[in-house]
Amino acid sequence: MITVLRIGHRIGRDKRITTHVALVARAFGANKILIDSKDDLIEKNISSICKRFGGDFEVQTGVNRKKIIREWKDVIVHLTMYGENLDESVNLIDKKKDLLIIIGAEKVPQDIYEIADFNISVGNQPHSEVSALALLLDRYNEGKWQEKKFNGKIEIVPRKKGKKVINKEHVG
Ligand code: SAM
Repeated sequence: MITVLRIGHRIGRDKRITTHVALVARAFGANKILIDSKDDLIEKNISSICKRFGGDFEVQTGVNRKKIIREWKDVIVHLTMYGENLDESVNLIDKKKDLLIIIGAEKVPQDIYEIADFNISVGNQPHSEVSALALLLDRYNEGKWQEKKFNGKIEIVPRKKGKKVINKEHVG
């Protein structure tokens, strides 16, 4: 079970990037995203993607980050450019345990660095929570996210050229 906790989400300003974080979480094998600010629009958009493209991904906004972190029993990873090397750290995570991945938006409070079991960097340059999350999830599940079946109403069939989409939305 993998949960992503997005902290410092600013409604309006972070709408697009937090949506992308949620889409990456879903597509790359996480089970849930928790967002600290209440944002009905993001909940609606992500739930709509899940309804159409399938899977059992959950989205919840307006969560109490302190409570979630305090009550988390298993592994906590904080993604930060100040952390330790991805490839070395990812192998140290106990995969039998549930995983909470924390990513920031604005400046991340110091207590997150202290409470995390692993502060992991995806390179030590500043880039994006979207890319950092994608690479961590890919390394963590060793690329197996690509095999996941979503069984959605909409299914894309890979093509050399053009687009082939199976749309079961209006069937039955
Ligand atoms: N300025 C903020 C700070 O000092 O905490 C971080 C802003 S950054 C755009 C947003 C998030 O992207 C970070 O909280 C971190 O989770 C992620 N991030 C950015 N670069 C990263 C890197 N090289 N490795 C891991 N995570 C990274």
